[in-house]
Amino acid sequence: MAYDRIYNFSAGPSILPEKVLEGIRDNLMNYEGSGMCVMEMSHRSKVFQKIIDEAEQDLRDLMNIPDNYKVMFIQGGATLQFAMIPMNLMKNGVADYIVTGNWSKKAYAEAKKYGKINLVATSEDRNYSYIPDCSDLPISEDADYVYICENETIHGTTYQQLPNTKGKILVSDQSSMFLSKPCNVSDYGVIYGGVQKNIGPAGMVIVIMREDLIRDTAELPTWVPTYMSYQTHAANNSLYNTPNCWSIYVCGQVFKYLKSIGGLEVMAKMNEHKAKILYDFLDQSKLFKGTVEPEFRSLMNVPFVTPTKEQDADVVAATKAAGFDNLKGHKSVGGLRASIYNAMPEEGVVALVEFLKKYEAEHMA
Ligand SMILES: *Cc1c(COP(=O)(O)O)cnc(C)c1O
Repeated sequence: MAYDRIYNFSAGPSILPEKVLEGIRDNLMNYEGSGMCVMEMSHRSKVFQKIIDEAEQDLRDLMNIPDNYKVMFIQGGATLQFAMIPMNLMKNGVADYIVTGNWSKKAYAEAKKYGKINLVATSEDRNYSYIPDCSDLPISEDADYVYICENETIHGTTYQQLPNTKGKILVSDQSSMFLSKPCNVSDYGVIYGGVQKNIGPAGMVIVIMREDLIRDTAELPTWVPTYMSYQTHAANNSLYNTPNCWSIYVCGQVFKYLKSIGGLEVMAKMNEHKAKILYDFLDQSKLFKGTVEPEFRSLMNVPFVTPTKEQDADVVAATKAAGFDNLKGHKSVGGLRASIYNAMPEEGVVALVEFLKKYEAEHMA
């Protein structure tokens, strides 16, 4: 690889397209004749206004976001949304949560601070290795919304079919699958994602919200901080206060890159192809085993194990020495995890599989 870069399988912050990094480098000292770097620029300047406007428009083009949805760039990562969602969406003070892994579990625990939260389905019984049947859930009649994490980054599961919410608004945390494939935005009330998994630099979340769900700040309980009312961000086009200018800029460059390669249909085909190379290997391997039930496997995060913890650690060390980094699994699943986000080139997955094959041949003899 160029620049002595390694294959970075980190779950987040994670790999970015090299073309985007090179473009940023070329514009670092003097962004398009402004005489300064984007990091040094006023968020009230014309140059920055163009950056944020284009970023929003390119995202709208990529995802076909309908006009009645707002796009907001907010700080605090995905984690702040665990609180902002119940604070803003609860009118009856009731919500239904589906818990399929660590991230939805955290969101569920946080929401409990603000209302009556019903756990309507969970896959905890088999360490979150599958997605429960969500076709006929006991949805609460007075639920303000139904919440899911659509791709569980740590456990490596993904929904093949959205839950039947029986007419309730669906809220989805798409952090680790954002822009990995086409998405029918109008199936959701709210989609959000921390950008550092599949899009850009850490420290920002993108929220796509149906306009009629954004309530007046005056309607919310007075203890809700101004910053945590969606109306604050929607009414000021994400410029109520100084936003994460740098992240908005880099995300915008990634959106342009995704458009240039043909958009999300093309991205989805590449991701399916890449993931198949790794899953096909795991399925025939005698040493390595995927931990997720095949039907619910993520295209982005691929956890796998060897028969023992000691061997897991040995493989992690061996891969690191060979130029593949961040393959250690999360402590709640153990083993290994390869995050193969949009920006991971197919060569990276092929090289990893070749390495694991060789390791297996040497250790199974
Ligand atoms: C990483 C992650 C989060 C938390 O993101 P932060 O930006 O660190 O707050 C939430 N949900 C999912 C699915 C994630 O992968």
